Amino acid sequence: MDLGPYVVEGRSPEAAVFPGSVDEVRAVVALAATEGVPIVPWGGGTAASLGTPAARAGLVLGLARMARLLEHEPGDLTATVEAGMPVAALQTALRARGQWLSLDPPDAERATIGGVIAANASGPRRHLYGTPRDLLIGVTVVTGEGALVRGGGKVVKNVAGYDLPKLFVGSFGTLGIIVEVTVKLRPLPDAERLVAVRFDRLKDAGTAVRTVTGSDLIPSALELLDAEAGRSLGSGPGASLVVGFDGLAEQVAWQCDELRRLTAPLGGHGIAPLPDEAWSRLCTAARAAFATPAAVMKLVVLPVTVADVMEQGANAVRQRGLLSAWSAHAGVGVLTAAVFSPGGQADPAAIAAVLEDWRGMAGAGGGYAVLEWAPLTVKALVPVWDAPGAAGRIMQRIKAQLDPLAILNPGRFVAGI
Ligand SMILES: Cc1cc2nc3c(=O)[nH]c(=O)nc-3n(C[C@H](O)[C@H](O)[C@H](O)COP(=O)(O)OP(=O)(O)OC[C@H]3O[C@@H](n4cnc5c(N)ncnc54)[C@H](O)[C@@H]3O)c2cc1C
Repeated sequence: MDLGPYVVEGRSPEAAVFPGSVDEVRAVVALAATEGVPIVPWGGGTAASLGTPAARAGLVLGLARMARLLEHEPGDLTATVEAGMPVAALQTALRARGQWLSLDPPDAERATIGGVIAANASGPRRHLYGTPRDLLIGVTVVTGEGALVRGGGKVVKNVAGYDLPKLFVGSFGTLGIIVEVTVKLRPLPDAERLVAVRFDRLKDAGTAVRTVTGSDLIPSALELLDAEAGRSLGSGPGASLVVGFDGLAEQVAWQCDELRRLTAPLGGHGIAPLPDEAWSRLCTAARAAFATPAAVMKLVVLPVTVADVMEQGANAVRQRGLLSAWSAHAGVGVLTAAVFSPGGQADPAAIAAVLEDWRGMAGAGGGYAVLEWAPLTVKALVPVWDAPGAAGRIMQRIKAQLDPLAILNPGRFVAGI
């Protein structure tokens, strides 16, 4: 078969297999364990290059054939799904019965529910609804030894013993292959709207974030974009505050009016609704600002400092003769920053210096940074993950329990896991 779609960071896997059942997953893992071949669990592949470069590409274990909605209990607001089901396909099935999974990761057409949980991926609506960690109530996993482990269950109050499902959230395929998940659902809201408010100065938009957070408004999304990131949403110069509301139509209308009233004295103007497709463009607004990014970093900081970090981070880049674009889930303090080289070919050392500046800024305020995407020449100079401190040893022990032969995505995660 053509292994081209599974090449990660220039490295082709030795083979790709697509089991059709939990038993087949177990058989593949058992064989790989016997042969000592590393396994790369593969959902939609949208984040396949996220992580420390692998020493050996190994065997891709794709979940594409395990993509069924197994159970949907509208009365319980839960669903059980095979891990390879794309998030958008799940939403379509749920919508037909008036419900949704309150998660909006980027590239939802391709991103699978298993991959999204393994990466703890989320989108703008995490402001109100949280991340996969908050929505996962049960999980079935094949460990690196081929054992089948079930954690949680199919009802919302169900944890007996350790909360195992949470362990697999954000584990990046290093602890087990997620084969089935049970998630909490919500009824679809009657109405939903996304509006943008423009500010001449980023600082004023930052003040507006704090004003909205402290007000009676209950936004589902609260995104702050600098002028560069705003361009991909059709904004002009200046910063944009993009706010989502959902609920009853009259509540949504009231909140939009209230947003205008609160932001006008702070310099907010040009308030306007955005089309539905803007929701998904928010996730990639920073990356899409200029032609091709030289690197993309996620910074996690205190929400009150988001606008300052953006300003400081953009200045640090300008001083090095480079460009940047910034967007943020402002209410929860999660920023995406992309660096671009105006001349085309970027010097890896200069890009690395910018990323170290940014990581330093996040760390100084008690936060952290993850290098989300960069070419290998840059990854050779800047670690993908922050040092995990004493927790690294605990994580290594958990890894040793669930994947004693270290065959699942070896070396790609924190602490050399
Ligand atoms: C352009 C771009 C923008 C992004 N922006 C954001 C963002 O704003 N917010 C955010 O949270 N994320 C973001 N991400 C990350 C990305 O959205 C998610 O990581 C992705 O949705 C994961 O789904 P997937 O099915 O494509 O997984 P894959 O890319 O196939 O896999 C992701 C990881 O999970 C592992 N994995 C996959 N399936 C399984 C499974 N069944 N069991 C165990 N391990 C598994 C893989 O080995 C890999 O380590 C972005 C990614 C890109 C490329």
